[in-house]
Amino acid sequence: MAQQQAVADTTASDAANLDYDAVVVGAGVAGIYQIKRLVDLGLRATVLEAGSDLGGTWYWNRYPGCRFDSESYTYGYSWSKELLDEWHWKERFSSQPENYRYLSHVADKFDLRRHMQFDVAVTAAHYDDDTRSWAVTTSDGRTLTARYLITALGLLSAATPPKYPGAETFKGQAWHTYYWPHEPVELEGKKVGVIGTGATAIQLIGAIADKVDTLTVFQRRPNWAAPLHNGLISDEEMADIRSRYDEIFARCASTPGGFEHEPDRRGFHTVSPEERRAFWEELYAKPGFGIWLGNFRETFMDEEANAELSAFIADKIRERVKDPAVAEKLIPKDHGFGVQRVPLETNYYEVYNRDNVRLVDISETPIDRFDEAGINTTAEHFDLDIVVYATGFDAMTGAFDRIDIRGAGGQKLTDKWADGPETFFGLLVNGFPNLIMLAGPQSGSASANFPRGIETGVDWVTDLLTYCGGHGITRVEPTREAEEAWGEHMRQMYSMMLMRNAKSWFTGYNSNVEGHEHGKTRYFVYNGGGPRYWRRLNETTGDSYNGLNLA
Ligand code: NAP
Repeated sequence: MAQQQAVADTTASDAANLDYDAVVVGAGVAGIYQIKRLVDLGLRATVLEAGSDLGGTWYWNRYPGCRFDSESYTYGYSWSKELLDEWHWKERFSSQPENYRYLSHVADKFDLRRHMQFDVAVTAAHYDDDTRSWAVTTSDGRTLTARYLITALGLLSAATPPKYPGAETFKGQAWHTYYWPHEPVELEGKKVGVIGTGATAIQLIGAIADKVDTLTVFQRRPNWAAPLHNGLISDEEMADIRSRYDEIFARCASTPGGFEHEPDRRGFHTVSPEERRAFWEELYAKPGFGIWLGNFRETFMDEEANAELSAFIADKIRERVKDPAVAEKLIPKDHGFGVQRVPLETNYYEVYNRDNVRLVDISETPIDRFDEAGINTTAEHFDLDIVVYATGFDAMTGAFDRIDIRGAGGQKLTDKWADGPETFFGLLVNGFPNLIMLAGPQSGSASANFPRGIETGVDWVTDLLTYCGGHGITRVEPTREAEEAWGEHMRQMYSMMLMRNAKSWFTGYNSNVEGHEHGKTRYFVYNGGGPRYWRRLNETTGDSYNGLNLA
């Protein structure tokens, strides 16, 4: 309490002329917890949210099939026993409507909505070194001043629908999955086209194939996917989960990905090929990411181990898809299993056995143009009523790039990050004092089961602000040396993993975004795992925030 008073006093006396001590941008999973901690500290803080309600990812993505790939009970917040005791996750991998309801419940329970402003997008944020504060410009024409700018922008919140010639002439409906309408969409009897075959498309396609008249999937590159094996959680199971929450969260904190799934520590080469196959059969039949994250560690680093696992999964696809030519098209040839984030699916492969579903390989016959009636590839015309762009995001840095962020001396963040992000543990940026990123590129949150990483990140940030408040500090900036050291470690971690060559948002590849072409790795995701990240962060900063200039 005394500490809380000290923080509030220092900040209040010093920041009397500022609108807020902290502005948080984004009311998703990260923003909700951060505002709770700031309010509890007695700081004057507000959340600015572009959407009409809170929820972030779970507010926007309303496409059919949208759900967790984390076990639900590992996704919820861990910081309120009362919340843990009262919430019943209905499904092992909970769906978007339920997730949105959960986050609304949290905000209502802790009376957080009154600290949130909806339909307010941040368009610019400029740092002023004289006042050691940020001026935040909003879409409704205001400028708010705050000591700290805390971004909770999400990893995947800047959608990238491709621009096809003639798209504006299309007479049907079209949207990106992120902007799936909030009103019910009539799919029955409709000819639907889906562009893309990432995790989003794989969930969507599995959910709508039996509801539409025809479904045409335009695939540029196939993705490896594995079964989700969703199921209901009974009252008895939920009671058991509640009794084990401490154990569950402790386990998540100890695994590299922040999930329950722990890598198998036996050496790949010490286990016979027959045993390996039997082990993979087991993992393939189990729910969730076990087949990816509960596998031999060598599958992430060793070409031979990865090739053997990929061959196993390829055989599964061949077993599940009746037409061998279609099966071959669904098997990735340019990357191995798990070097891109693995989509988890429900009947995805079986969908291609249906008469109303067609897979179109647009790596062979690209989309040429749209017309009034649908899509023309270089080979054929497809009549469509609805086109869904499941084409992904300008991940990690896209949401930052869309705001005019300028640090000390007017330096633009887009300039600093032109060749990829440079950060201090994904939390702070040299040259941008008092900018704090909760789900920044290169952060621990970004590479883990999101809420698990986020909670630790928010706690770290809250401790930092508490320390600054208690020591009369009003300016926080990492040193360039500390930032470079983190960049070097990021690169080292990439060099060990097969993921380094992947064409995916993990490595900053996105052919929809200018300059993000393949071959120019952007070090987005920390590959060293959660425990190593937090250990390294705490070792680096010590008791007095080494690596940061505090003034
Ligand atoms: P994504 O994985 O980046 O996939 C985008 C897809 O669109 C790819 O198949 C890509 O093909 C294709 N594409 C992009 N631009 C295209 C173009 N111009 N023409 C044709 N195809 C194009 O995006 P996402 O599926 O939205 O998933 C992103 C991430 O969101 C996932 O990795 C995951 O982290 C998260 N997610 C999680 C869940 C969950 O279960 N919780 C569900 C959905 C998404 P190429 O591969 O050829 O580029």
